[in-house]
Amino acid sequence: MTRLKNTILYARLVFDKNINDPDAHEKFQTMASAYEILNDPQMREVYDAHGMEGVSKGPGGPDFMDPNDMFAQFFGGNPMFGFSFGPGRKRTKGEDSVIPYEVSLEDLYNGKTIKMNMEKDVICSGCKGSGARGNAKPKTCSTCDGKGWTTINPGPRQVSRVQCRDCKGVGERLKEKERCKKCKGECVVKEKTRQEIHIEKGMADKQRIVLAGAGDQQPDIPAGDVIFVLKAQKHESFQRIGNDLLTQVKITLSEALLGFSRILVTHLDGRGIRVSSPPGKIINPNDAIILRGEGMPIFKRPDDKGDLHVVLTVEMPDADWLNTVDIKALSTLLPPKKEDIEPLPEIVDEANYEESDIGELHSTFLDQELEAQFEDDWEDEDSDDDIHGQPECQPQ
Ligand SMILES: [Zn+2]
Ligand SMILES: [Zn+2]
Repeated sequence: MTRLKNTILYARLVFDKNINDPDAHEKFQTMASAYEILNDPQMREVYDAHGMEGVSKGPGGPDFMDPNDMFAQFFGGNPMFGFSFGPGRKRTKGEDSVIPYEVSLEDLYNGKTIKMNMEKDVICSGCKGSGARGNAKPKTCSTCDGKGWTTINPGPRQVSRVQCRDCKGVGERLKEKERCKKCKGECVVKEKTRQEIHIEKGMADKQRIVLAGAGDQQPDIPAGDVIFVLKAQKHESFQRIGNDLLTQVKITLSEALLGFSRILVTHLDGRGIRVSSPPGKIINPNDAIILRGEGMPIFKRPDDKGDLHVVLTVEMPDADWLNTVDIKALSTLLPPKKEDIEPLPEIVDEANYEESDIGELHSTFLDQELEAQFEDDWEDEDSDDDIHGQPECQPQ
């Protein structure tokens, strides 16, 4: 039940953050009611035996929502939090372990098999998951008289119920010496396993690789899954857009004017891609070309590929080069310079030639743009943070 409590606390946090959500308070009340059911041993018994019908039909029973349904509804049915309602009626499968996994664009292009060592809970072989030594049966918990809770006095004339710490709210427990020696009554033991995951060619960011039944084992129900969620790393030279790739290549001024035939791109599998520009073609800065079939492999049919878009930026020669050439000869070769405009304006002023850091200007401008955008957007921002990582171990 500790984890359920944590969940409630988490939910409260989420709702506090969403204070503008008019339904938040109501949602929280519903959640608290569900917690009541799970925490009240009598109600709990009725719920476990007859489900929600039993609880609702109780004399003057309050209008509770089924805890299992409610949690599923709240969190999209994704057991990322790994709720455990103990012997809850509807729990038919163990908890899934969700593990984020970073992959490079190279891995997504070429495919990759990864072996990793993991630790998981397996049913204890010593007691076959009962937690008991021999045929020992759990007895009513003496601390709470089987109620699963005890009372505390947090202040004068105040009484609160807390979960019994000796039986963890179950109401019965094994005596110390009756517990299985191997698992110490926990029913499961940690075991190291070796997992293999296959990153297939063309897989995408956020794609899930599911190892069915490879998760933690629990007594009486099938084990949950291990789910790897791919997180694509940024690549320094390629950008992925669906099945297409985008890259930028610098060409020289002479290549822009006279054409080229050379290895333009080193691909994600190490191949060189040679491209020849058509004769007589002048390339303007930021002209783009498309290399058909050189994009990402398509998932499940990797022989088909998207396209590779290449933006050609033109690199101007530097001052050192200028010092080595005959300027006069060069000026006769290049297209003529511009003349003053005709007719000449009545007033012509002289201004100084001074270099400016356009980058700085540009970023200041961008910042303002972003700020304006942020002010528009931030109210719609989703404040729920994803919770990743493996669910904590929950001994029964
Ligand atoms: Zn055991
Ligand atoms: Zn107890």
